[in-house]
Formats: sequence, C-alpha cells, structure tokens
Amino acid sequence: MRSWVCTRCYSVSGSWEELLLHCRLHRCFVVCQGCNFKAGQLWIPNSWEYFWHLQRCHVCAVCEIHFDTPEALDKHILEEHLNECLGCKKIFATCSSLIAHLESGQCTTQSFRAGREAAQHSNRVIINRCAASCRRWQQFIKEEFHGLMITGCHIDSGTGIRPYKCPKCGWDYRHLSGLLKHVEDQVCGQRLDRNPIRALMTYIAHRSLVRVAKQLY
Ligand SMILES: [Zn+2]
Ligand SMILES: [Zn+2]
Ligand SMILES: [Zn+2]
Ligand SMILES: [Zn+2]
Ligand SMILES: [Zn+2]
Ligand SMILES: [Zn+2]
Repeated sequence: MRSWVCTRCYSVSGSWEELLLHCRLHRCFVVCQGCNFKAGQLWIPNSWEYFWHLQRCHVCAVCEIHFDTPEALDKHILEEHLNECLGCKKIFATCSSLIAHLESGQCTTQSFRAGREAAQHSNRVIINRCAASCRRWQQFIKEEFHGLMITGCHIDSGTGIRPYKCPKCGWDYRHLSGLLKHVEDQVCGQRLDRNPIRALMTYIAHRSLVRVAKQLY
C-alpha cells in the first residue's frame, strides 16, 4: 500500500488528501489547493517560491483560489477579504485594527526577517506612502504632508506630526489606524465611503506581498 510521508516531520499519511490535512494542521507546509488542477500542492512556508507563486498565478493566499488576471484577484480581495491580513491570514473585526496590526510590525510574515522595529518602521512608511499616493485619499491627508509621505520620509516617530485628518470633524491623527478608528466610532458619525477604504486596503495588501517577495531574494 502506498503511503505519503511529510518530508518535514516524517509523519506518514494514508493518502494525498490526508497529507494535505496533516500539513494544514501542523503547518509543516503551506497547502495551495488551487495548484495542480485543484489536486493541491505543498509549499515551504515563507519561501520565495511560494510568494512568487502567489504573484505569478494571481492566487488568493487565504482561499487558495487561482485567478486568471490580477484584476480578478483584486475584485475577489475587495469582496471577500477587506479586514483580513494577507500576510498572516488573521481576520480583524475592523479596518482600523487590521491597519494597526500592519503598523505594529507584528505581522509574522513581514517581521520574521527584518525584526520587529524595522518592520514597524518600514510598514508605517509604506502605509503612509500608499495613502498619500492613492488619489481618493487626498481628502484625508493634510496637503503639506503629501510630498513627504510619498517620498517615504520619516514623519511617524516622535515628531508629533499628525498628517491624517477627518474632513468632517477636523481632528487629526499621527497614524492611519487612528483616523480609521475615529471614523468607525460613533463620535464621528461619519461613515467613510467604503470605496476609498477598499482602494487603499488592496493597494496596501498588494504592496506588502510584493515587498515580502522581494525581500526574500
Ligand atoms: Zn509534517
Ligand atoms: Zn496554487
Ligand atoms: Zn480569497
Ligand atoms: Zn498579518
Ligand atoms: Zn518611522
Ligand atoms: Zn470625524
């Protein structure tokens, strides 16, 4: 009788499907069910091959579905994963808590190499840059900081600069998560039009995945 061995922990499974289940439970490998005509494939966690696969086959890392075009993947992410970290697959209750997670540098896939401090710094720079480059976000950022945020200058730590503002209440915030938290709150009473948020979220998600892939080379 044929058996399937996990090459990471050497546990033996009775079938390919059982091996996939084993890898999902024990995280020996990342399973992508969309590969091999949906028979599934095992990938080394955090390997550049895996990130390359996500990029090249337009894969949703959460659902393991392969899409034909980057646009189709975008649409899927917008519809299904608005509050989901595409790095570590954690799901957050709100948009602001997801952004706070990215700002903290604690997302495992982004900090495993760089270290937490560096990840925190570069994530904040990336998030600022994404927000400032996103045309639909101009109204939420003070004009005098657009340029600085796009060039990735250091405007987040200890300077007390508050580049984000609520266009309705006029309150300002140091970090994007602060602004989003305010908008989600009753006090503001304003619901950010979901479209600009979505645009920014997919932008950030894609940017961070591409960045991780590049870092691994
Ligand atoms: Zn194993
Ligand atoms: Zn795949
Ligand atoms: Zn998905
Ligand atoms: Zn994460
Ligand atoms: Zn900084
Ligand atoms: Zn407000």
